[in-house]
Amino acid sequence: MNLEHMTAILEKIQAYETVILFRHLRPDGDAVGATKGLCEILRLSYPEKKIYVNNADFSDFVAFLGEEDEPLSDEIYANALGIVIDTATTARISNPRYALCREIVKIDHHIETEPYGTCRWVEEHKSSACEMIVEFYYTFRDRLKINREAATCLYAGMVTDSGRFRFRSVSGDTMRYAGLLLDLGVDVDRLYANLYMKDFHTLKFQAYVYKKMKRTANGVACLYVSRAMQKKFGLTFEEACASVSYMDSIKGSLIWLAFIEAKDGSIRVRLRSRFVTVNPITEHYHGGGHDCASGATVHSKREMRALIAEADERLRAYKAEHEGWL
Ligand code: AMP
Repeated sequence: MNLEHMTAILEKIQAYETVILFRHLRPDGDAVGATKGLCEILRLSYPEKKIYVNNADFSDFVAFLGEEDEPLSDEIYANALGIVIDTATTARISNPRYALCREIVKIDHHIETEPYGTCRWVEEHKSSACEMIVEFYYTFRDRLKINREAATCLYAGMVTDSGRFRFRSVSGDTMRYAGLLLDLGVDVDRLYANLYMKDFHTLKFQAYVYKKMKRTANGVACLYVSRAMQKKFGLTFEEACASVSYMDSIKGSLIWLAFIEAKDGSIRVRLRSRFVTVNPITEHYHGGGHDCASGATVHSKREMRALIAEADERLRAYKAEHEGWL
């Protein structure tokens, strides 16, 4: 089945002279790594084709993976195959001009809520979109080329989306594909330093988070990061959003969530869990995501309280019905 989807995608790529790669808004390491990694693979494998990565936004923490392409003219889009990676719904595609492409292909590992594009390869259980791109390369390794640059981008996505190979979604295949990338000479020291070294002010902020976080009756850990807090600690919005992960190892807090106030007054929700499935909660707030990592946007303290109450009830029910959780 996968082979069928992958073959169809390869045939599409072969049929077009121009391919443009897209990803989701506010890209994470996986979205950036997958688009840049596939771009490099296609450029190496098809030097006669024009391959671009064109998106409307970027994330500073993965800037070390390299620059983005300049914006393209409408004519280029009109004759291009667009490949959208790591993006469940069209509303989340970073670059709205994707719609100008002659045809769209979807490659994703999120729950399929909107099957868009003429050709789709979606596998919800995959640990990252980058893992899918490595599988794609490996399947057609007699026709495709890869190098250390591509491997570094893809490895960065695999590492970040799997919580450094820690999440449930990590399989034997994940490790085998990661091994393939390491064999290409990924400099893990440099990569991990770029991804995980922290600034002094970020550590100060982390200490503040531990002081400020709260816990509901049943153990949901929560945090609200106001604009004032972001200003006080000199944080970018991305740095403020990263605070959700500070709460990921509190015993008994199987669900944790951060609310981050954005410049426009809306509040980004980042919801995380272990053992417990939480994405149905964010789906009630026009959001979504994976079983144990999902997101949404809310617009008031009232909505925040309602979301916390829902998470608390879910955790209560989970604890009542299960044993052996931590
Ligand atoms: P985040 O907390 O933003 O990293 O999101 C975790 C997961 O949920 C990611 O896989 C996102 O793609 C997904 N997600 C976040 N926000 C939304 C949203 N508003 N709608 C649908 N999926 C979302």
